[in-house]
Amino acid sequence: MISSVPHSDFHSFDLHRDLVRGIDDLGFVKPTPIQGLAIPPLLDDRDVLAAAATGSGKTAAFGLPILNRFLGMRRGTTRALVLAPTRELAAQIAEHLNELARHTRLSAAAVFGGVNPSPQERAFRQGVDVLVATPGRLLDHMQYDYARLSGLEVLVLDEADRMLDMGFLPDVRRVISQIPRPKQTMLFSATMPEPIVKLSREMLHEPLALNIDRKSEPAKGITHQVYPVPAKLKSSLLVELLARNDFDSVLAFTRTKHRANRLADLLEKRGVRCTRIHGNRSQNRRTEALKGFKDGTYRVMVATDIAARGIDVEELALVVNFDVPHLPEDYIHRVGRTARADAKGVALSLVSPEEEKDLRSIERHIRTRIRRIKLDGFDYRRNPNERFEIPIAERIAEIRKRKAEDRARSRENAERRAARQQGTPQPGPARGDSRRDNRPANRDDGGNQPLRRWRSDQRPNNRRGRRY
Ligand code: AMP
Repeated sequence: MISSVPHSDFHSFDLHRDLVRGIDDLGFVKPTPIQGLAIPPLLDDRDVLAAAATGSGKTAAFGLPILNRFLGMRRGTTRALVLAPTRELAAQIAEHLNELARHTRLSAAAVFGGVNPSPQERAFRQGVDVLVATPGRLLDHMQYDYARLSGLEVLVLDEADRMLDMGFLPDVRRVISQIPRPKQTMLFSATMPEPIVKLSREMLHEPLALNIDRKSEPAKGITHQVYPVPAKLKSSLLVELLARNDFDSVLAFTRTKHRANRLADLLEKRGVRCTRIHGNRSQNRRTEALKGFKDGTYRVMVATDIAARGIDVEELALVVNFDVPHLPEDYIHRVGRTARADAKGVALSLVSPEEEKDLRSIERHIRTRIRRIKLDGFDYRRNPNERFEIPIAERIAEIRKRKAEDRARSRENAERRAARQQGTPQPGPARGDSRRDNRPANRDDGGNQPLRRWRSDQRPNNRRGRRY
């Protein structure tokens, strides 16, 4: 196990000067600990197993040695594959690699579900140097000859613990069984649960283990704060906190998609520029939300854990745990979105009495007692005007009612049409009452685009017929 940080300067690595120029352009002055530890052995072709939390700088830690390795080689072959758990993370890794490679001719492309697969197919066919993919969409492509990846040399598994949480390990194993054995493999994970350790034994050859005895812990620059508050007053307290502080880029986490929608609706109603990102939103809407959040169109982004995984927004000043996560690891992942790579940031948790137990286990995990704060002048005894969460039974009843109304309306329209065809005029509106008109304007379940329309001349090389 290696735990010291041997390098304090990017120029001391054996990296090509064109990559060092890219690093300089990004304004990176000194390597982060994981970069200091991982880059030299990776440049020596070693396999690496690294415990590195999100925000630790791990993308450059694995990306720079990969790019360095390919610099002198002929282009046109995909030689590295990075597997990532979410679409946002895959897109972000590809973007970061392209930034690092800006003074070279190398490039990276992202492959993930929910978007048109044709540009992705082109990236395969052109042999983009580094492919960053989520496992499901990659397997979809791998049914076709153009996605054989026969020239692959390097494999990276990023955020492996999250792949495990999301149930992707079988897909990861399937990918591994369909690609050539890589010359170099790296596995990055914030935590090291047993199935990941087992997978690492299968995948890695005499790996160097970096930092793996250390519990994952949040970045040093984070100030943790707790606001104890009754559950029903959380949204009012958050509105008040946002009004009194000038944090201009706030990521707020909720436990469920429903709560994310409710919170985003409520903040919008209170005039806060707000967007949302969660699993029920189409990829286009998620991309638009993230873009608007990054460029400052929205001040707040409300997110669920999985959707927000790996999101990297520069200068994110505040992370709000609107709901306390059940797992300490999730707390660390969430708050890792602020104070990235040595910056400073605030992680603020709104904690109801029912959530105190989860909070205590987080405190034990990070070995810190977090300061409790009472907001002066906030009425902790008032009753909110409306309920924050609508119980699931009521939501289902509402959906059933709407569907019954839709059906009745369709019946009426059909009867009216039939009567018209028989020449009998019918009273009542025939237009403007279609099902679509009756839908709430702010539905956000736009659904994914069709996964793909493969051309008829492309023949799958196996017939698993799986969907992503
Ligand atoms: P990552 O953990 O790879 O997602 O990186 C987290 C953030 O840290 C990204 O915004 C990187 O651009 C930034 N970063 C990575 N390495 C460094 C470094 N050596 N110095 C400053 N920022 C860095």
